[in-house]
Amino acid sequence: MLGSANHDTSVSMPRIPGPGETILATGAASGPGGKGLNQAVAAARSGASTTFVGAVGDDEAGERLRGVLIEEGVRAGLSVSERPTGTAFVMVADDGENAIVVVAGANGDGAAITAEAASALASAGSGDLVLAQLEVPLDAVLSAFRSAKERGATTVLNAAPSRPLSDDQLALVDVLIVNQHECLDLAGAPVEGVGGAAVADAARLLAARVGTVVVTLGSEGALVLSAGEATRIPAFPVTAVDTTAAGDTFCGALVSRLAAGDPLAAAVPFASAAAALCVQRSGAAASAPRLDEIMELLE
Ligand code: ADP
Repeated sequence: MLGSANHDTSVSMPRIPGPGETILATGAASGPGGKGLNQAVAAARSGASTTFVGAVGDDEAGERLRGVLIEEGVRAGLSVSERPTGTAFVMVADDGENAIVVVAGANGDGAAITAEAASALASAGSGDLVLAQLEVPLDAVLSAFRSAKERGATTVLNAAPSRPLSDDQLALVDVLIVNQHECLDLAGAPVEGVGGAAVADAARLLAARVGTVVVTLGSEGALVLSAGEATRIPAFPVTAVDTTAAGDTFCGALVSRLAAGDPLAAAVPFASAAAALCVQRSGAAASAPRLDEIMELLE
């Protein structure tokens, strides 16, 4: 697992304010976050032996994140950067919607992350999966994927936040996971009308460039394109309280089952169950469910 680790401050409010607007919050809390760390915690909680590679600052927040990884049973390949630990400000509305601003800090230290990834990947081999997102410099991700593929490991990219990727860059990706907005962005399709048909078209374009594409569709579930076939997997009908880290929980849980040897047809429903449990709780990394809870929902 390679990616960002943040100290999150999460604020609850009746709705997300518009530009220039001030509204009163109904609560505030802080805790661990960052797409990379969230996904590592979700993978470990859903049963995978997990190593997290990233960078934090030489500060209290960095120490706290190191402590979280130890508590969660995640092996930490954390480089200590001269930059401060990353921070995110999360606004959560009463209907579960969110808006997030991230200050990258140490997560932008590509050299530190690349060096840490090289040593963590030295022992990787076939059967291992390497999952990354795009909250850390792209070069660090691509260099880790190159070395993972040389060792026969499988690479999984959660292309979030989205940014343009060339065919050569996508060729390093075995499994691509995107939400519907990222799917449209990455495929270069017009973002007008985030309707199902536009997303399905964009997903097909991506599937021509990457072997396996999984598009998460929020409460509508997920769309899987693999070996020329498209399958729709429904979400679990639950009431969302806080959708923060839903996608991260989905990615971590999916990779955990793929690492255990499950086919996509079993791993995607498992990931959907994990994400459905996550959206019923507040917080980022803290809202990832444990294996027994996921199995219970799947029964
Ligand atoms: P992201 O958080 O990256 O935008 P999505 O919103 O697509 O990702 O959510 C990821 C996954 O979380 C979905 O595929 C689904 O399985 C689950 N999920 C999200 N919102 C809900 C919801 N309201 N009810 C049930 N499951 C949900």
